Amino acid sequence: MTEHKLFDLSGLNALVCGASQGIGRATAELFAKQGARVCLLARNADKLEAVKAQLSNPERHFCVTADLSRQADIESAVRTTAEKFGPVQILVNNAGGPASGTLMGAQSAAFESALATHILSQLHLCQAIVPQMKAEGFGRIINIISTSVRVPISGLGVSNTIRAAVAGFAKTLSNELAPHSITVNNVLPGYTLTERLSSLAQSAATRDGVTHDQIMEGWRSQIPARRFAKPEEVAAALAFLASREAGYITGVSLQVDGGRIGSI
Ligand code: NAD
Repeated sequence: MTEHKLFDLSGLNALVCGASQGIGRATAELFAKQGARVCLLARNADKLEAVKAQLSNPERHFCVTADLSRQADIESAVRTTAEKFGPVQILVNNAGGPASGTLMGAQSAAFESALATHILSQLHLCQAIVPQMKAEGFGRIINIISTSVRVPISGLGVSNTIRAAVAGFAKTLSNELAPHSITVNNVLPGYTLTERLSSLAQSAATRDGVTHDQIMEGWRSQIPARRFAKPEEVAAALAFLASREAGYITGVSLQVDGGRIGSI
């Protein structure tokens, strides 16, 4: 039997969606460092290639482009991944969050777009990849969502609604797939220093007539740890849930938020 170091991902293939920046990028970097072969997915081929070039042993990894809101793109990406990369044992579902705004001001199109990008994309990815996981007798599906599944965040009406739907989808899927040694879990990032956080702060600043820094300071003061997360700290939770050692953890939502969610 092959011996593995603790939380070693060697021998495992991971498809990481939304890998061109932010938490997805940090996840691809950490998975590669832990020995996984990584397939990086996002819309922009040049950005993905630049990220791949920075990974440990870049030649082992692979990039595939797709817009997760488009089923045809997903089907084509899954086909290319299967042909050129191989079976996937770890799937990270991740994409940019829906635009900010109140529910009373939301348009149907915003819901339709969020449903396509966050629910239907996961459905189609899982339907294509789970048979590979079943054949391998090993699978890890990890969704990056938000602490808003515990406490909805004001001004993120569409996002709060769609994240709750992802959490319900994941729990249901975890029960369906547990007999096949496939786990399904969610990581709930708190405020994390990425391009997404900066653009949300800018929208809030414009809405409230204050500066970007004032918004950031207001958010920081709500966090018991009194600092924002680094993307690699969120990635560490994903690496744990992806590991062989986490095989008995399924159907959970793990907060990585510096203590911000106040409930027990
Ligand atoms: P980000 O916007 O910096 O990165 C998102 C990634 O997804 C990028 O690689 C982007 O190119 C890709 N992407 C977006 N839309 C896509 C599409 N339609 N098809 C393919 N790829 C697409 O986001 P982040 O800050 O890294 O956050 C990751 C997730 O975690 C998001 O859903 C975000 O809302 C959520 N989240 C972030 C924070 C935070 O503070 N950063 C907090 C809570 C939740």
